[in-house]
Amino acid sequence: MPEETAAAAPATHAFQAEVSQVLHLVIHSLYSHKEIFLRELVSNASDALDKLRFRALTEPDLFEGDTTLAIRIRADRDRGTLTIEDTGAGMTEEELVSDLGTVARSGSKAFLEQLAQRGQKDARLIGQFGVGFYSAYLVADRVEVVSRAAGAGQVAHVWVSEAKDTFTVAPAERTARGTEITLHLREDQKEFLDEWRLRDLVKRYSDYVSHPIQLLVRKGSKGSKGSKGSDGTEASGAEAVAEYETINRASALWQRPKGEITEEQYSEFYRHLAHAPEGEAPIARAHFKVEGTQEFAGLIYVPRDKPFELRIGMKHRGVRLYVKRVLVMEDCEELVPEWLRFIVGVIDSDDLPLNVSRDVLQQSPAVRTIKKQLVKHVLDALEALASERPDDYAVAWKAFGPLLKQGVASDFEYKDRLAKLLRYETTAGEGNVSLADYVKRMKEGQDAIYYAIGESRRALEGAPHLEGLRKRGYEVLLMTDPIDEWATESLRTFEGKNLVSAMRADLKIDATDEEKTARIADTEALGPLFARIRAVLGDRITEVRPSDRLTDSPACLVLASGGPHGYVERLLREAGRDVPKSSRILELNPEHPIVRSLKTLAERGERDAAHVADWIEVLYDQALVAEGAPIEDPNGFARRITALLAQVSQASAGTA
Ligand code: ADP
Ligand code: MG
Repeated sequence: MPEETAAAAPATHAFQAEVSQVLHLVIHSLYSHKEIFLRELVSNASDALDKLRFRALTEPDLFEGDTTLAIRIRADRDRGTLTIEDTGAGMTEEELVSDLGTVARSGSKAFLEQLAQRGQKDARLIGQFGVGFYSAYLVADRVEVVSRAAGAGQVAHVWVSEAKDTFTVAPAERTARGTEITLHLREDQKEFLDEWRLRDLVKRYSDYVSHPIQLLVRKGSKGSKGSKGSDGTEASGAEAVAEYETINRASALWQRPKGEITEEQYSEFYRHLAHAPEGEAPIARAHFKVEGTQEFAGLIYVPRDKPFELRIGMKHRGVRLYVKRVLVMEDCEELVPEWLRFIVGVIDSDDLPLNVSRDVLQQSPAVRTIKKQLVKHVLDALEALASERPDDYAVAWKAFGPLLKQGVASDFEYKDRLAKLLRYETTAGEGNVSLADYVKRMKEGQDAIYYAIGESRRALEGAPHLEGLRKRGYEVLLMTDPIDEWATESLRTFEGKNLVSAMRADLKIDATDEEKTARIADTEALGPLFARIRAVLGDRITEVRPSDRLTDSPACLVLASGGPHGYVERLLREAGRDVPKSSRILELNPEHPIVRSLKTLAERGERDAAHVADWIEVLYDQALVAEGAPIEDPNGFARRITALLAQVSQASAGTA
């Protein structure tokens, strides 16, 4: 039991189950990179300072006459404690209980599961999930938080926990506003009392926190400079005094001229924004300053991989909005189109009012201008990446391709620019191809961009729909992402060439007049068979016709109307969406031996009716399989195939 000496008895509270889980994980499973606790506590202190500064815009009294905004760190060797203090917004008693006893963000449970599943031992991930505070227990076995909320009449409370299952909260002595967190370091974590270790960690992880981070350091007393003894130790008489020294840069990186910023500084700031592990660098960035009627600066990063939040379906905290260097919004979605929700960065406006609300942002013409510029610069950066570092672009495409396609499908304004960023696998070989490259190598006489949508590259490569295109040497884009359905629908053309699906009825690859005439002749010649097929298949198909897209297979099904491709339709249905079954046209290959014999059989009239009906059913089922669709009556299919095989084997035994 903690031995509190405060007047009122401390109240004991149980941690929410999720917090207990987090604590268990922090103490027992996360071994590497324990030092990130400092980054997390500094980040919370910085948030608290931002919060106060923001609230004080409308309520200046909150400062109570002292506008100092700072973070102070001090180590006490004798007690083995490390203290992080801020002059920020502080927490009331209720806030101490709820903020440090429950996990507010809904994805944290998912985070735990992910970490456990992957056997991750890496503590660096913790800050991304709104549970950064508990990282204190990576290095401490007891944590005390004394906090006084800003504002007249507020009193201080102390929160204490040894990370068992409970914490206590009791009244405390503290007159200054803000929060003071004291870590009782574990025996094997005393390295965090070392001045140089602390300096190094702040530099490494928190250099770009925009508030001063001050470290209590021992210095020779005033006037004693240079009074060190010849052996380098401090000369007697010059007593060391402790004073706070600012150890971070505390400046707005995005306001500095590009030429003065090193690659490493850019990356460091990215890691600060994204809570990203050391060593991780963004794949691209855009740093811009706009001057004129509207003034703002932006520094936007494209991560190398999908942010964890997006992978587990959480909301991603992307772009921060500052107004004249003051942070006014953590996640300003008004500045970022849906399809760019993977970016990370800051926008700093000189024109927006400091007390801007979401409602105001949504109406603001200034915001529209900023958003436009932001998108333009990110697209510039992606285009440069694609042309200058195609291998890196391939990595970005893998991570964000589906989102960029969503942009093509949903954002008319950027459709054409985004189309240039699209990459697809094709029948021409492994690797992704841009639409521009596809068009460049189109065959003589080819007047459209052909594509097919299905479950996998393998399924598509074997699809009968592609046979005729292949024979002509036409390349086909192989699309396996359901969003491609909408991306291609809204794109329709690229560089003046139509995008045409190899699986739709409107594919026409008959090039010459002779071919067209031949097709009409086929239709007439196959008339009796077609009549039979219509009678047997009924409303399962809307039409039957000779095909110009088949060379080796006897039949295939094509999409009659504008509905989604079979694969996408099935996915939608599996997802519980009520999609009408889109109608199919059965296409037959007039040259195929099966079709020829069927034609002959059908012309003989009723004599072989049952036999012909079986063949038709088998052809239809086979076309379904080729489309990747399930067979409607698997038992009937098996029975018919067996019967047909029996006939064939009898016939071959008879002739042998
Ligand atoms: P996050 O910072 O992502 O919200 P944390 O676990 O780091 O998650 O912190 C939980 C909450 O505790 C914060 O959202 C904040 O409300 C509160 N908190 C933590 N540290 C401080 C502090 N120094 N001053 C004020 N509030 C704090
Ligand atoms: Mg935090």
